[in-house]
Formats: sequence, structure tokens, C-alpha cells
Amino acid sequence: MSFIRSLARPEILAMEPYQSARGTAAADGILLNANEAPESLIAGTGRWCLELNRYPPPQPQPLLERMSALYGVGNDQLLVTRGSDEGIDLLMRVFCRPGMDAIVECPPCFGMYAVAANIQGAKVNAVPRDPQRNLQIDIEALCLAITARKNIRLVFLTTPNNPTGDVITQTGLETILGACENNALLVLDEAYIEFSNSKSAARLLARYPNLVVLRTLSKAWGAAGLRCGAVLANPEVIMLLKKVMAPYPLSSPAIEAALLVTSSEAQSAQCSMLEKIALAKASFLDQLKNFNWIEKIWPGEANFILMRVDDAPALVSFCSARGIRIRDFSKQNLLHNCVRLTIGTEDEMTTLGAVFAKYRTDERIQHD
Ligand code: PMP
Repeated sequence: MSFIRSLARPEILAMEPYQSARGTAAADGILLNANEAPESLIAGTGRWCLELNRYPPPQPQPLLERMSALYGVGNDQLLVTRGSDEGIDLLMRVFCRPGMDAIVECPPCFGMYAVAANIQGAKVNAVPRDPQRNLQIDIEALCLAITARKNIRLVFLTTPNNPTGDVITQTGLETILGACENNALLVLDEAYIEFSNSKSAARLLARYPNLVVLRTLSKAWGAAGLRCGAVLANPEVIMLLKKVMAPYPLSSPAIEAALLVTSSEAQSAQCSMLEKIALAKASFLDQLKNFNWIEKIWPGEANFILMRVDDAPALVSFCSARGIRIRDFSKQNLLHNCVRLTIGTEDEMTTLGAVFAKYRTDERIQHD
């Protein structure tokens, strides 16, 4: 049995997947095989309005080709998903036996890895980031945790990380991939990679069959509302994920919109949006120097900033009372009094800067 199949749950390997009408027969001709209505009741501008009575293709070829080209992988190395959230969930369901298998994560990190593991009944082994080294990954401890136990199936890493924004170096990544070899799959979540200077690890897929990369249209493609992302992996992993995926995961409007938001026009709009966000971030970081209630800043390489302040809940509610939502992370381990703020438009950042300038000043005036 291949290494990848040996990591998968035996019941998933043995299972016959559901055979959908559209997945097993051509979608042209007279379609009487899926119990659909013969016509759509709305006529709109998009083709999807006319064809809304039909189930969509499970993995639409044009979108598969578009995303494979974008991410530099073959069509058989990519699965289009309803965002990375679905990719995480599918991986968990294929590879983790409830009550037996475990994942490894390096908190503080994206919360859905642990939530999806808990739902699946998989254990979560946490290797906390190193507070002495700016909350970067403790690679040595991580490699030890991966090799110490036999039941680890998935290792989740994020680059740039949410919420710290730091990136994993190529050497670090290869060290961790080495520890995962013959042990587990390394799932590298690149949700924010377009904002950074790093190259995607997708180019390593040919060398490391146990590498899985998650990409999404939710961040740098300005399309969180679409719910569309991709899992990039060895074709064997992709085949296994398809086995547990819903028969028609992507809605027709989402497929059409995903092709629009990744068109060549959208690609040039993306370049200018990324530039604007980078400029707004640099100038906001500059402004932050004025505030003595900020104790530490993790500028990171993504479209957000993490910072430690004197009193995170107080700052968050001060901003909220003025209509600005920033996120309180202070309840998370290693993140006491930390808040994360996303870089918005130039105007939004100016407004936030003005609110920050009032924070504590108002208080002092009241107290004086
Ligand atoms: N990964 C990370 C690191 C994230 O921060 C997020 C969303 N906050 C996601 C994945 C979820 O992405 P999607 O919208 O594609 O489900």
C-alpha cells in the first residue's frame, strides 16, 4: 500500500463513494438522470440563471484549469473546495480515525484546525510557538512531536501565520517535511501568501508526496463571499478527498463568479489592491509609533497586524463604540492583551488612526 493510503482511515479506503448523476454521465443531451426540474424559473443575465435547474459539475473543468494554472499545479493535483475551511474538514475526515488519530498544530494559529479535529474526534497535539522568539514556530519541538508518536496524521502550519503574520523559511519547511516523511501529511495553509514575498510551496509537491497546500480566493482575491478555495496535493490525496466530498459542492453562481474573480482583468486589479494594502499597512505601522499604550507589534507579512496593548478588551470596545471592529485575541494562550486588525482601505485606516489617537487621551482629559 502507498504511504498516503496507509495514512488514510481504512473505512474510507474501503468505502464505495456516492455516484452522482453529473459525476457519472455527460452533462449534455436530454438530461433525465438527476430528478431536476426541466426549466429554471428565473431568467437573468448570467448563464447560471438559465441553468439553475441543473446540478452543477462537481469539479467544473474551466475552473479546475484556471486554478491549476494560477497555482502552478496539474489538474489532477487540485481540488476546488468551498474555501479552505472545507479543505481542512475533508482532510480531517479522510485521515483521522475518531478517538485514535491526532493532528499537530502550533498555536497561536487559525482556530479551525482544532475545531475540525474536535468535530472529527481527533486529538490535538499543540506545540506552542516560542514566546522567546517572537512567537515563531519552535521547529525542534515540532519535529520531536511529529516523530514521537505513531498516531499523528496531519500537521497544520500556516504561512504567513494567522494571527502572528510570520512566514516559514524554505529551510524550516524542508526540515519539517523531513520529520513528516513516513509519518504524516504536512498541511501548509497559504491563505495569506499573496500578501507576502514568499513563493508558494506548491512547487515542492513533486518532491514531497506528503505535502498538502491550501489556497483560497477569500483573501487576496477579494472574494470571501464566494466560498471558494483549493487543496493542492498529490493526486492520491485528491482522489481520497473527492470520496468524502459532497456530490455537488460548488453552486453554479459560485462557479461563474470564481471564473470572473480570477479573470485576467481581475488579476491586474489584484496587483493594484495588493499594492494599496501594502502602502496602507506601511503608513499605519508608521502611525502606531505614536501610541505609548502599544507594547509590541507583530507587523507580519499578511493583510493584518497583531499587537499587544495595555488593555485589549478596553481598546476593542473603545473602537467598537466608534463603529470599528478589531479582534480581541487576549483570551488565547500567549496572546494576553493582543488585538489583531485587518488592513482596510486608506480611508478606513485613517479613521482607525484617528480613533487610536483619541484612545487614552479622552480618558486622561476626563481624569485631569
Ligand atoms: N486559513 C487561515 C489561516 C485563515 O485565516 C482563514 C480565514 N480566516 C481560512 C483558512 C479560511 O479560509 P476560507 O475562507 O477559504 O475558508
